Amino acid sequence: MGVVDLHLHSTASDGEVAPRDVARAAARAGLTTIALTDHDTIEGVAEARAAAHVRVIAGCEFGVEVWWGELHLLGYFLPTHDAELDGLFAKQRSHRLERAREILNRLQHLGVAVSAEQVREQAGDAPIGRPHIARAMVESGEVGSISEAFDRYLADGGPACVPRPLPGVESVVSIVRRLGGVTSAAHLKRRGTRETLRRLQQAGVDAVEVLHPAHDEKTASRLRDWASELGMLKTGGSDWHGDGSNPGRRPLGSLSVPTEWLDELEDLHSRRVGA
Ligand code: AMP
Ligand code: MN
Ligand code: MN
Ligand code: MN
Repeated sequence: MGVVDLHLHSTASDGEVAPRDVARAAARAGLTTIALTDHDTIEGVAEARAAAHVRVIAGCEFGVEVWWGELHLLGYFLPTHDAELDGLFAKQRSHRLERAREILNRLQHLGVAVSAEQVREQAGDAPIGRPHIARAMVESGEVGSISEAFDRYLADGGPACVPRPLPGVESVVSIVRRLGGVTSAAHLKRRGTRETLRRLQQAGVDAVEVLHPAHDEKTASRLRDWASELGMLKTGGSDWHGDGSNPGRRPLGSLSVPTEWLDELEDLHSRRVGA
């Protein structure tokens, strides 16, 4: 038996905890297997693995474009170095940097003073995400909290929200499959209808994230049933970014997926790599 969490973030993207400390915290919380799934990067995985407190699956949360806009697509069992993947990450990193500049412009027009330097300090080497900008806004005293930064300015549709170009779902699916990896549609929430799952499956998506802090029991049980009916695999995770952030998120170890779900993901991965 194992305790498994397939959706975690570190400072390699917008998490608050360094990859090695994510592995330590996970082990302390009783987890035996985790997937590190940072946004548009896989750079934290080697460090998390070296900490060796827990088994670490190499994952990534890709932002991809689908018919309604942005989908978060989890990729699992990825190689830590691949030319095509690295090219995709480099491109997204530069789109994120461009977008951050535009967000800072908008904020300035809205009377919110945050400098590129302050954001860089928050992001370090990570691809820049809105949470880094939100943290810089808190640091500079422009807002009282991360949630205020999102609610007033940065949330989707907010006055300082700027879209960024995204790769299509099919192109990311095809890269991940070529590498032997497996994909799962993350936190679909109310978008998660049977028809949505069917269309994502047609696009080549392998699995659905059933368990997620944003899914109540009804949502999770619907997704679970439809996934089984359609022959899709199931994943789940805490989407942990650190204990301080993302209100409503649960502490590490409080969300775990059945080991059979992981076994099925691994079987598919093995079949893909021909092992
Ligand atoms: P980005 O990758 O720049 O599009 O930013 C999206 C990230 O912002 C998500 O992965 C979450 O970590 C975070 N986020 C989104 N909405 C909120 C919110 N309302 N409060 C706090 N963090 C949020
Ligand atoms: Mn995030
Ligand atoms: Mn997400
Ligand atoms: Mn996430």
